[in-house]
Amino acid sequence: MLIPCPHCGPREVSEFSYQGDATRTCPELTSTDVKAWYDYVYNRPNPAGPHREYWQHSGGCRAHLIVTRDTRTHEIHDVAFARAALNRAGEQA
Ligand SMILES: [Zn+2]
Repeated sequence: MLIPCPHCGPREVSEFSYQGDATRTCPELTSTDVKAWYDYVYNRPNPAGPHREYWQHSGGCRAHLIVTRDTRTHEIHDVAFARAALNRAGEQA
């Protein structure tokens, strides 16, 4: 599987480190909703289809990326720097 790093170009997946699910949101830190915290800490969805994930180009430029990958085919739909994607999310809030 090749991941097109926006900085370095297409590189083998062995140069990257999976950093986790990019769709999870943390409950409010002051929340006492036990179910929300339990779901956040222990429950992981296993989606079939396009999924947003954090990856780091640890064997290259070390950039943190958000990769949209189809979990059934490993086709990469989109790659963006995580910082840029997080800034866009902050602007929308
Ligand atoms: Zn890179």
